[in-house]
Amino acid sequence: MPHSSGGGSHGGGSHGGSHGGHGGSSSTSHTRTYFPGAHHYAYYKNGKVHHFYNKEPITEASIKKNKVSFRIATIIWAVFYLFMFSALVLGTAFSHPTVPNVRYSDKDIYIEDNLGIFTDDELDDLYDALEEFQDITNVTPYILTIRNKDWKKHYSDLESYAYDEYLELFDDEMHWLIVFSSDQDDEWEDWYWEGMQGDDTDPILTDHNVDVFRKAFHKYLLDDDISVSDALIKSFDKMEEGLFESNVSWGALIGGTLGIAFHAGIFYLGIWSVFGMNIKTDKLAFELPEAEKKYQEDTCEYCGGMFIHGIHISCPHCGAALPPADGPIFVQDPAKLS
Ligand SMILES: [Zn+2]
Repeated sequence: MPHSSGGGSHGGGSHGGSHGGHGGSSSTSHTRTYFPGAHHYAYYKNGKVHHFYNKEPITEASIKKNKVSFRIATIIWAVFYLFMFSALVLGTAFSHPTVPNVRYSDKDIYIEDNLGIFTDDELDDLYDALEEFQDITNVTPYILTIRNKDWKKHYSDLESYAYDEYLELFDDEMHWLIVFSSDQDDEWEDWYWEGMQGDDTDPILTDHNVDVFRKAFHKYLLDDDISVSDALIKSFDKMEEGLFESNVSWGALIGGTLGIAFHAGIFYLGIWSVFGMNIKTDKLAFELPEAEKKYQEDTCEYCGGMFIHGIHISCPHCGAALPPADGPIFVQDPAKLS
């Protein structure tokens, strides 16, 4: 389906064109609450006691397995997002215009001047310009002029009319239909124009190239000393000057990069929470013998750090020897003390 190459009107400025269109849960997934069969672990961090429960015991091997999984997931993540970045951002932000290599038979160039605005000389010059454009691009142009009232009867905008007209006129996607419409009022001419390009013309009629044409054509149309024919010829010339130049769309580059980076960041958090998050605490953790029990905590009188009562002979934070009363004996379940 063809799509707009942009357009404009005398009163309304010009506009741009449109575009077509957990698996394998880790063996050390920590939970904060006890469940039957759980292993009870604790670790110290910043002077505080942290408890967690695990279905499987934490071993050197399980920590290593987590590290390997985390590394593999990170590599897959990096490769995937590099690929996405190349395909989505670099592929669209940098355009290298090329001649579309499409075979089609309908290559007759037409200037259908329903308004009768082109003189014979102008028709010759315009035809030459269109032929040159076709030679360079393999795209067949078609110029159509029409009175405003002839499309306003059935359409609310010229773009819709040009779209239908394209489908009516051509069986391929290798045409560029340029419609110029006017009420031919001598006082204040109410004019419109619209470009409609076939999808196969996109490699050469890039966003950048049609933008160059659109801006030039609009500027020349606003100049009373330049005829519509000259405006067209000058605009084709202007676009052809830099037709094959590569260019960067900074908006697409920056916007696309930020979008991919945001997506990648969210996904990395997911990978980290599944594989990476527990690696550090697994290393610090020690298992408590009674899984269901709520262990009492003591505060070190030297450093103020918290530790589990009854399992240490020295403070796990500062190393100070603990009074014999806090020595390594397991107290009873606090619930059973009374
Ligand atoms: Zn201490």
